[in-house]
Amino acid sequence: MSMNTSHIMPTYARADVAFTRGEGARLYDDKGREYIDLLAGIGVVSLGHCHPHLVESVQKQAEKLWHVSNLFRIPEAEKAAARLCAMTFADVVFFNNSGAEAIEAAIKVARKHFAAAGEPQKNRIITFEGAFHGRTLGALAAGGNLNHMEGFGPHCPGFIQLPRDNLHAVETAITPQVAAILLEPIQGEGGIHAFSDEFLRGLRKLCDEHGILLIFDEIQCGMGRTGEMFACQHAGVWPDIMAIAKGLGGGFPVGACLATRKAASGMVPGTHGSTFGGNPLAMAAVNAVLDEMEKPEFLPMVRDTAEKLDLRLRELAETHCEVVLGLRGRGLMRGLHLHEAAPSAELVRLAREEGVIVCGASENVVRLLPPLTISADELHEGLARLDAALTKLGKAG
Ligand SMILES: *Cc1c(COP(=O)(O)O)cnc(C)c1O
Repeated sequence: MSMNTSHIMPTYARADVAFTRGEGARLYDDKGREYIDLLAGIGVVSLGHCHPHLVESVQKQAEKLWHVSNLFRIPEAEKAAARLCAMTFADVVFFNNSGAEAIEAAIKVARKHFAAAGEPQKNRIITFEGAFHGRTLGALAAGGNLNHMEGFGPHCPGFIQLPRDNLHAVETAITPQVAAILLEPIQGEGGIHAFSDEFLRGLRKLCDEHGILLIFDEIQCGMGRTGEMFACQHAGVWPDIMAIAKGLGGGFPVGACLATRKAASGMVPGTHGSTFGGNPLAMAAVNAVLDEMEKPEFLPMVRDTAEKLDLRLRELAETHCEVVLGLRGRGLMRGLHLHEAAPSAELVRLAREEGVIVCGASENVVRLLPPLTISADELHEGLARLDAALTKLGKAG
């Protein structure tokens, strides 16, 4: 079916390509063409396409039990929650189905914490320019991107957006009404902007001094993406509440809100819910992803791949300095910041023509989020194709 007769609501500017099969970091379209996937479904397919352990775990669970509702105990969810808590600061986990829902839960946990303590007026949340927290109404207001908010008012109040990397501005903005600070340690959609370790440590200190909650959105930068399990670990800083999703299910739609028992003190029976959240099928995917990521060799492998990627990207940035302004990001979450005259959308298109999948981000950045399991050969081949696309873009400009 051609795109303009499609019955899908046209909210996306989709590329006219349809993939039918994937294996590791390779994708195949309906014309039999092969691609190297340096995007992994926007950082979701963390173990690559159709990872055998993930396939087997989900298949096995599909034959046993899919869904029972949260009116009952779900041992698979209890197991996944215990594992996520063991690897982080968290004591408790709320499972849901997407990043935006995980953010909504995080906002509710923070507001309820103070409301339950008799301070309902303490409900404002500080956020930062360039943020992206999802497309539900609360997450949209938290993100504060006017393009995304246009036409969807009235907007959810209670968010204070500040410039990035200015600790002094944050300190000044903390009033008795402020409950929490929310940010992505590395902004994804905003253009792969990594906050400095010092800034994250400064925020932690401010939160402790003022008795407010620190919320990290690790939906894109978490789950091994940067070579640590969570990006905030590079700075040695844990939040009080953390939203995760994308890589968590390896392609299965699942999100989670992690919190300390103290931060979640207001979340008693009846305060939050999700019909699908944490169902046995989704939890089979999460537990299978954790099986792989908990292996002692997993993160060292990611770091090794990240080093190879970094070396090669530096070469590309140098060779194509007429197109590439600079490199951004950390680990396997990288961005090529392009000159204004070289639109990122054009590089994304040329790259696809060359057989490599990447995507854009704000600030004319092209984003690379390869599967964490990508082999050295696949990475090498993908970057050779990107090299060819950069050459074409340079000639066109
Ligand atoms: C993708 C993303 C979200 C939203 O996740 P959805 O699953 O699309 O709702 C929120 N925050 C960040 C940092 C993201 O990258």
